Amino acid sequence: MRLSYSSINTYETCPAKYRFQYEERLPTSSSPALAFGDSLHRALHRFHDRPVPVAPSLEELQEMLDDGWVADGYRDAGEEGLYRDHARQVLAEYHRANADSFRIPAALEFRFTVEVEGVQLQGVIDRMDRIPGGGYEIIDYKTSRRLPAKAYVDQDLQLSLYYLAAREIWGIEPERLTLYYLLPGERMTTFRTPAHADELRRRIAVVAERIAAGKFEPRANPLCDWCDFQARCPLYRHKYEKEGGDPAPNMTAIVDEWIALKREDWERYRRLEELKSLINAFCEEHGYRRLYGTDGTAIDRRPQHVTAPDAERVRGILEPLGLWERVLSVDAKGLSDLIEERTLPPNVEDALLASREEVRTQYALYLKDPARSRR
Ligand code: SF4
Repeated sequence: MRLSYSSINTYETCPAKYRFQYEERLPTSSSPALAFGDSLHRALHRFHDRPVPVAPSLEELQEMLDDGWVADGYRDAGEEGLYRDHARQVLAEYHRANADSFRIPAALEFRFTVEVEGVQLQGVIDRMDRIPGGGYEIIDYKTSRRLPAKAYVDQDLQLSLYYLAAREIWGIEPERLTLYYLLPGERMTTFRTPAHADELRRRIAVVAERIAAGKFEPRANPLCDWCDFQARCPLYRHKYEKEGGDPAPNMTAIVDEWIALKREDWERYRRLEELKSLINAFCEEHGYRRLYGTDGTAIDRRPQHVTAPDAERVRGILEPLGLWERVLSVDAKGLSDLIEERTLPPNVEDALLASREEVRTQYALYLKDPARSRR
């Protein structure tokens, strides 16, 4: 099996998408963002690919951009022109920040394949520099606009893979791992330890095992709206079938009614909450326990004390009586919620799913309402 940063990341985001892209090799569309990123990577490769430690001039760097410009994916010449101007500005800033400290890199666009847990792990390291005074720094260029949180960089899968690869290929431990965000012109640097490499090996093994077992379930995620495979995705099947002529118009009427009622529910809930806070504020101010409507019906206002048991004290009381086990149980809903959050490592998720005894399967219906999420 061959895996890379992109394929592992894709699998972990959505196994179905991995299947469409890497197993079935369905075509993906190009986009301005991809072409723009590709063009900048090409220009920077040529910029650093020098036999002498003297930086090319800014004019030469701009020519490198023009020579390697990727024109696919833009809507029209106007959009392409805007992106090209932006790329020139980004490279001017890069030149200003890097020309004086220019060094010959230790590695440049280095393609590697290493075997990890029986998997051929492939990748391309954008650049590796020797750090003055000793050690190595691996640098990966990013063309996203916004900087991520530091915690994200500390966990970044791509940097972990490069760290692992550098150990396997060159037998070195890179001291610094850097994501260089070209648009804001900021570097975010982190490090990894041998313990991270071991953790990554386990992560790769889990992904490989799940792929080999044919586990390709769709996993709804924030990138679904930009997914190239929606038309093949089980989650979107009905939507695409409807586009070719509604297969069951009566059912669509039922769906529409359900959605309308659900929206009414939300509206009522929102209004009830508004009224509740007005009533509470009025009672608080005037000391009322009850408020009466016009027909004599009353709203009772009762305090509800939210308590949290002190587990150790409860245990001290119940254990001597042999009753402690009675209040200890796994919260089935809490467990389901945890699994549904989809934030657990896939092997932990599998183990938890396998740990549950199926009593019956029931289906809850949720409304995915674009109008509501836009609010
Ligand atoms: S649309 Fe979403 S759930 Fe479906 S394959 Fe694409 S990423 Fe996965």
